[in-house]
Amino acid sequence: MTYQGSCHCGRIAFEVEGDIDEVMECNCSHCSRKGFLLWFVPREQLHQKTPESDQATYTFNKHEIKHQFCPDCGCQPFGLGQMPDGPPLAAINVRCLEGVEPAELTIKQVDGRSF
Ligand SMILES: [Zn+2]
Repeated sequence: MTYQGSCHCGRIAFEVEGDIDEVMECNCSHCSRKGFLLWFVPREQLHQKTPESDQATYTFNKHEIKHQFCPDCGCQPFGLGQMPDGPPLAAINVRCLEGVEPAELTIKQVDGRSF
């Protein structure tokens, strides 16, 4: 399955391959404020259709995850990071994907506030 994703205004557009088996809802200070439902995929399953130079980047804490957001509309469709053992991954905000109904997903609650 290939999902189409974008920010609200379309300045950031992308495709993601794979099947959404489970998404993560985290209660940390960052995820809770932005309301993320995150789907983690190997980075190569994310295909960006718009230039990375059009994205702004936010980092905090250990600055290991590059949270990519649109400087025009403010949506944050994905973050880029690495697995603990090295391989690059992408954390897709499934709220920015077309045809995904959050109420139909299996949502895993993660207690990031306690990490
Ligand atoms: Zn935008």
